[in-house]
Amino acid sequence: MTTTESPERRTPTTDRQHVDVLVVGAGIAGIGAAYHLQQRHPGRSFAIVDALDTRGGTWRTHRYPGVRSDSDLFTFGYGFKPWRGPSIATGDEILAYLDEVIDENGLAEHIRYRHRVTAASWSSADRRWTVEVNREDTGEQLRLTTDFLWMCQGYYDHDRPYRPEWAGMDEFQGRIVHPQQWPEDLDHTGKRVVVIGSGATAATLVPAIAETAKHVTMLQRSPTFFIARPKVAELAATLRALDIPDEWTHEIMRRASVVQGEEVMRMAKETPDVLREFLIDSMRPLLPEDFDIDKHFNPTYRPWQQRLAALPEGDLFTALREGTASVVTDTIETFTPTGIRLSSGDELEADIIVTATGFDLSLFGNVAFTVDDEPVDFTQQVTYRGLMITGVPNMAYVFGYFRASWTLRADLVSEFVCRLLDRMDERGHEVVVPQLRPEDADMPLLPWSDPENFNPGYVMRSQHRMYKRGDREPWTHHKEYIEERALLPAADLDDGLVYR
Ligand SMILES: Cc1cc2nc3c(=O)[nH]c(=O)nc-3n(C[C@H](O)[C@H](O)[C@H](O)COP(=O)(O)OP(=O)(O)OC[C@H]3O[C@@H](n4cnc5c(N)ncnc54)[C@H](O)[C@@H]3O)c2cc1C
Repeated sequence: MTTTESPERRTPTTDRQHVDVLVVGAGIAGIGAAYHLQQRHPGRSFAIVDALDTRGGTWRTHRYPGVRSDSDLFTFGYGFKPWRGPSIATGDEILAYLDEVIDENGLAEHIRYRHRVTAASWSSADRRWTVEVNREDTGEQLRLTTDFLWMCQGYYDHDRPYRPEWAGMDEFQGRIVHPQQWPEDLDHTGKRVVVIGSGATAATLVPAIAETAKHVTMLQRSPTFFIARPKVAELAATLRALDIPDEWTHEIMRRASVVQGEEVMRMAKETPDVLREFLIDSMRPLLPEDFDIDKHFNPTYRPWQQRLAALPEGDLFTALREGTASVVTDTIETFTPTGIRLSSGDELEADIIVTATGFDLSLFGNVAFTVDDEPVDFTQQVTYRGLMITGVPNMAYVFGYFRASWTLRADLVSEFVCRLLDRMDERGHEVVVPQLRPEDADMPLLPWSDPENFNPGYVMRSQHRMYKRGDREPWTHHKEYIEERALLPAADLDDGLVYR
């Protein structure tokens, strides 16, 4: 890989037209990727491009009241940068943490905002990618080239949220908003608000809005498992009180969180009924006395088949106890001019309806990929360890954990990519591509996500668009952190990868 610039540098608007590594996405994954790359490969040039106007990805897009993490920040934060705040953090606190990482490592000069990648074409003759970029601030079309493409585009479409259509939506006279596109001017003070949804976003919004709204109703089709968690973990508070260095506290809290998460996961697999009972029992004392917990908070799926949603200090339960919020489990028959009519015949009056109905999965940021002029049909390709794709050279991607913190995996993938680049340097290779081995000729190609293992709506809705998974190493994905933290750093770089 070279660091020479392309001679046809024309536009003054960009600093370089060729970089050794192009990172797509300036969310927590992309910024982490750039950090690792800079540390391990200081000689390589790189740029980060992002379609948004600033850093943060998810935490930039989601600006709704109360927006916060679900995970603890000791594991959602990077391994290399201690978290000094409360265990569960607000969106702004996460953005401030990312700003520190950018400042401390001089990453700002490498990031180009409002640069949307629309297409990426690999040429085997040139041994590089040509990437089409739309500058959303000037409307210019740019063409960048790179030796290695590092896709950190996240997993959902930032521009288009998932919003089902219901009958009568046009007739509703109040406002309908989606959490992914929260209007800055929306004032819910003194208003009747219905939040449609039961996931982490609904559970975050309901208590936050309930502070000043007249009343908030969480309208769900089916229940979710919730667990109350302290905002500041007791152990972290103790370590800080003892003046333990932040780096130590961070590492101790990470280990504690990982062990705790693994224990829950083990129970979910081995004794799901015991875990279900434990979750229900821990919710019961926090809810109003006559609350129908089976109807509203006892899902039909096994715990951890979908993400377990944390409630800081049990805030949703507090709002329910105080009567500022309520839960209705029913289906929507139609919107009406004044609210929603339910299948049970009940009516919910509303001034504002929030559709916390989730995401649309985005496959590699909707970038059109071609390899030697052939469009890549990802549905025919297989994942290599959940970080590269068969037949697609010099491209890695970050897809974090569903259940553990996303960033635990982002860090592991970054380390893997840096190790792969080391290997290529050592052997003088310029190209690496995953390729099925002869013994994989008859391998069954499985859907990307096993519904038995993890089956939320946004995954199930998009399975048909996704790449496939095999039944053996290295063609699997969706392992747990406990396995991968040993497996990925030791993975044989000659198994399933072909170099040129
Ligand atoms: C409200 C909310 C709360 C969450 N809380 C947690 C949590 O507590 N713990 C957890 O583990 N996970 C959580 N998640 C999941 C979360 O999205 C990830 O953990 C994490 O933030 C994803 O980071 P990322 O950098 O991989 O992707 P993103 O944050 O999605 O960032 C991707 C970036 O890539 C850019 N991009 C995409 N396509 C293109 C393109 N074609 N061209 C240019 N730029 C492009 C986007 O503009 C975006 O800025 C949460 C998700 C949401 C929505």
